[in-house]
Amino acid sequence: MKKLVILGAGESGVGTALLGKQKGFEVFVSDKGMIAKKYKEVLLSNNIVFEEGKHTESELLNADLVMKSPGIPDTVPLILKLKELGVKVISEIEFAAKYTNANIIGITGSNGKTTTTLLTHHILKSANLNVGVAGNIGDSFAQQVAEENFDNYVLELSSFQLDGIEDFNSHIAILTNITPDHLDRYNNNFSEYVASKFRITKNQKSTDYLIYDADDATINNWLENNKTLAKLVPFSLEKELEFGAFVKNNNITININKDTFNMPISSLSVKGKHNVKNAMAATMAAQLLNARKQAIKESLEDFEGVEHRLENVAKIEGVEYINDSKATNVNATFYALECMNKQTVWIVGGVDKGNDYNDLLPLVREKVKAIVCLGIDNEKIKNTFENVVDIVVETAGAEEAVKVAHKLSEKGDTVLLSPACASFDLFENYEDRGRKFKKAVRSL
Ligand code: ADP
Repeated sequence: MKKLVILGAGESGVGTALLGKQKGFEVFVSDKGMIAKKYKEVLLSNNIVFEEGKHTESELLNADLVMKSPGIPDTVPLILKLKELGVKVISEIEFAAKYTNANIIGITGSNGKTTTTLLTHHILKSANLNVGVAGNIGDSFAQQVAEENFDNYVLELSSFQLDGIEDFNSHIAILTNITPDHLDRYNNNFSEYVASKFRITKNQKSTDYLIYDADDATINNWLENNKTLAKLVPFSLEKELEFGAFVKNNNITININKDTFNMPISSLSVKGKHNVKNAMAATMAAQLLNARKQAIKESLEDFEGVEHRLENVAKIEGVEYINDSKATNVNATFYALECMNKQTVWIVGGVDKGNDYNDLLPLVREKVKAIVCLGIDNEKIKNTFENVVDIVVETAGAEEAVKVAHKLSEKGDTVLLSPACASFDLFENYEDRGRKFKKAVRSL
């Protein structure tokens, strides 16, 4: 019996444990921290051996195969040791994909993964395809492969998941965009991060597709200098395309199947230029899977959007409050500010991942009337924007930030939480930040 060691007992680890057990592996799960109750219960009820609070090397180094949670960097001593011993260290998707023949729609990029993944899933489901959604979202892919029988999977793939693949393949890959993010995990080297994102094309064949943003210079540059076998399916907001998706006169046009797909941007339920791109990408994936045009259109009209992504929270005394807590980098915030059409009180700040705020200056000059800093270290924000915006206030929590923003706003304005930063200085994670913001808004 082959020994499968799983490092990290989160969603992907526990799912892999279940699938591994089903496929006849001797499974051992090891988590350096404490395992959440719900996962412990699953392990116990399935008689899966585990340890928590430590990694016992004697139990781990004799593995035939190791699955590592995407949260564990490649550079920690244990992983280096395993690799030195010649033990294969893979990600959940690599392991699980071996046990399904389903079509895989793999979605990666710096921003827009979750939105595009959920939108694609929504469209395919509305078009009556038998489809599951997984990856960084919801129930683990491995667990679904063990317990469900989907013909199609839409997978949200982080670069960390892609770092741990060998044979995994997306029949349809979507690359939403590439801008600097997570560089701390890539030796502060942007080209390493780019290479990691493009691993999504690594095993693609000539019958597969790569849907990508043709306005993204980094992506175009990579495609010019590297080879990929997949059929290229571009989308663009800037140019008309003979093959692919583009926008003309506020209308989306897609030429990939024999007949043309047309839809006015105003009919999309989600707003903002970035979401037009996400919608074009998702639509083309659905077309490639032969989803009906009418079903695609209806689902683009009734998609509810995703929590913490430009989420409308409430209108209070004529002021719109928007929660974009998931904007953890400058590019995401760029798109949020871009689609503000009212004077905006902007709540920004948190843990800076090496941000360059200069790209935001023109938008801030045009749209922002006051800045409310919500982070521990706000120096860079203050230095960048103090000469551009008259009012810059520091606050130490969501409630205070909302109260200050409320005072600074007047009827017809928008209050936008779009931090451009990670949340770990004051919050557990971006969800916690978004929820506290919403709670504070609702108790105004
Ligand atoms: P991810 O899963 O890649 O983090 P999300 O869909 O969760 O992406 O969105 C993260 C943030 O990026 C949100 O603030 C959202 O409004 C913004 N965003 C969504 N799609 C795009 C896009 N195509 N380009 C730039 N920003 C985007």
